[in-house]
Amino acid sequence: MQQDLVLLGGGHANIQVLRNFGMLPMPGVRVTLITLEAETPYSGMLPGFLSGFYTFDEMHIDLVRLTQWAGARLILANAQGIDTQGQTVLLCDRPSQHYDVLSINVGICPALSPVLGAEANVIPVKPISRLVSRLEALLIRANAADLPLQVAVVGGGASGVELACAISYRLMRERRAAGIMSTTVTVSLISRGPILQKFDRGIRKAFLLLLQLCAAPSSDGFLLVDEYLKSAGGPSNVFAAGDVASSITCPRPKAGVFAVRAGAPLAHNLRRTLSGGPLRRWAPQATFLSLITAGDRHAVATKGGWLGMQGRWVWQVKDCIDRAFVNRFGADLDYASMERHALPARALHPSLSTNELRLHAAAKGRCGGCGSKIGGASLRRVLQQLSTSANVQHGVLVGFIQADDAAVLELPPLGHVAVQSVDFFRASGFVTDPYLLGQIAANHALSDIHAMGATPQSALAVAVVPFAALGMMEDELHQMMAGALSTMLHSDCALVGGHSSEGTELALGFAVYGSAPRNALLTLRGMRVGQTVILTKPIGTGTLLAAAMQGGSRGRWVTGAVESMKQSNGPALAVLRAHHCQACTDVTGFGLLGHLAEMARASKVVVSLSTADVPLLDGALSCASAGYLSSLHPENKTDAAQVVDAGTSLTAGMFSLLVDPQTAGGLLASLPDERAESCIEALRRAGYSHAAAVGRVASKLPESSTVCVSLSRPL
Ligand SMILES: Cc1cc2nc3c(=O)[nH]c(=O)nc-3n(C[C@H](O)[C@H](O)[C@H](O)COP(=O)(O)OP(=O)(O)OC[C@H]3O[C@@H](n4cnc5c(N)ncnc54)[C@H](O)[C@@H]3O)c2cc1C
Repeated sequence: MQQDLVLLGGGHANIQVLRNFGMLPMPGVRVTLITLEAETPYSGMLPGFLSGFYTFDEMHIDLVRLTQWAGARLILANAQGIDTQGQTVLLCDRPSQHYDVLSINVGICPALSPVLGAEANVIPVKPISRLVSRLEALLIRANAADLPLQVAVVGGGASGVELACAISYRLMRERRAAGIMSTTVTVSLISRGPILQKFDRGIRKAFLLLLQLCAAPSSDGFLLVDEYLKSAGGPSNVFAAGDVASSITCPRPKAGVFAVRAGAPLAHNLRRTLSGGPLRRWAPQATFLSLITAGDRHAVATKGGWLGMQGRWVWQVKDCIDRAFVNRFGADLDYASMERHALPARALHPSLSTNELRLHAAAKGRCGGCGSKIGGASLRRVLQQLSTSANVQHGVLVGFIQADDAAVLELPPLGHVAVQSVDFFRASGFVTDPYLLGQIAANHALSDIHAMGATPQSALAVAVVPFAALGMMEDELHQMMAGALSTMLHSDCALVGGHSSEGTELALGFAVYGSAPRNALLTLRGMRVGQTVILTKPIGTGTLLAAAMQGGSRGRWVTGAVESMKQSNGPALAVLRAHHCQACTDVTGFGLLGHLAEMARASKVVVSLSTADVPLLDGALSCASAGYLSSLHPENKTDAAQVVDAGTSLTAGMFSLLVDPQTAGGLLASLPDERAESCIEALRRAGYSHAAAVGRVASKLPESSTVCVSLSRPL
């Protein structure tokens, strides 16, 4: 990899660039999408969604799947600014991301502050995700009681009219369905001038205004771009399209149709900027066909301000067009072809130049001497960047800030014991964001120490970064270690040193050192008959990640799994301790059944697991039932069969989940029955919203038996 193409915002134009680069990858170019949400809405379908005609999935494009299909990295983060000098995108709460070429397509948000009271009282239509969740709250209110309901939509353009119609239709329909027959829903449309100005005689005035804008370009807070979609008067490697951009040569109203049409010329010009060569001019069409929906399955077609046709069939035409667009980024893509990104360079792109092939050969033939270490200067730069956020930990005499040959630590005080563990984590297809990989790998490694009832104190890292241009490798290492460091700091654990090397894929591991009072260790052996078994986090990461790698998961399921993997077990340990926990482990590679069996065997007891109470991640059962299974699954299943009495009939999907290997899973703990309820409440208050009692220690394990887990009905 030699150059970074960064797509900022998963808007309508950038997703086409992704598709374009996925179809024809550019050798040496690493494509990264930075966007806020895993699923981006197609706003043309928003009124239909609000009316209740489309599901959430039908209206959204899954960016986790799309980026994976395109072989691009996905960073879910909030961009706060751009440093065009340093060529970085500034991100909220994490290091900035370098770019060689940048394409901005972040859409717009209404500016509420100029309108008195708007910030406190108005729901802006963008971001759509917030609007959707507020709509759900409104629907609950609408159906709760026969109270008058007043909704005002501000803005008399096509979108405002569509929204007002859709909301009115939906509220009335929901109320009727809820048995509320009175007409107490009022939807007002507030417009500065006549509504739909652009679609009657007023359209001329609107065009006049646009021509004036052309004569004296004014940014009005938007990014000015030229006829190549390149920032006008700004750096030549920054592009923008969609609502965020205003063209100085061809000003057009803000409409999705222009963001969509900009996709192809944007992709072309980004390629040319990366590889050299002339850019292509783009002039968006002057008028466009508007299909405005009217709440029910009814739409009006207009073009250039003239009223055309209307009726149910016009709505159906719009429905076909919109669905076809969304499907281009979902159903129409061949997800089975994801593997092609692993093909050798020549097969992947037969037109590679000899120079480009040499680059690939160079990457393959890198010297692996000295443990394939990353160059000293690069490493020093990364460590220097990281040292600003590293903490000075009690007990660390020499850490990575001092950068000596080895870390030097004080021994634990008298009466305490040292606890050590090592873990290693490869970036599988779904975690393409190095910062996120760092967070998950660190959390996964710390979890073993927490599971022993110990406090993590220091960690040594082993980092592997794929060969790329020097700056890109540095950046990747920095991002990954910054993510890990943020998690370590959160757990008060000092990163004291490590080893970094080049390799074929991004990977990160930690040897973690912690300590605990000798008599406070939590081992597998403390289970006693009559105790309750508690699980702090839901299960299902293995199947969800396996599905994500094969295009079978949904973006929000993956982000749900990621949030769970990022959640530290540290606070859970404190709660469990306060409730007299006596045995503990963390659920990882062997799956829930495997780890539970380990505890039961070590404690010489039989545990009854209430399968119906086991908390599951969203989408996990669906993925497991569809046969998306982790590669460790068959082994876990065979092991489980020897120790589990499957007295209750379980679906294959549910059994698969019980043996599903977990990454950074929750704690499985056993504590006195009378403490269980308050413990679960405290865990939920501490942010473990899925914490649940999942079983009971039923009896002693007979000498002759190996069956130490039985599957039972709910507690
Ligand atoms: C109700 C309604 C109906 C509409 N119907 C139509 C229609 O039928 N036809 C039509 O042509 N137009 C329609 N429009 C207009 C259309 O929505 C916009 O013109 C279009 O969405 C603009 O697309 P975009 O690609 O510029 O941005 P968007 O679609 O808004 O995408 C922006 C992306 O950037 C991401 N992002 C935003 N901020 C950040 C940040 N700080 N950091 C990282 N990522 C960020 C977002 O998550 C999102 O993925 C409608 C608008 C509304 C409100």
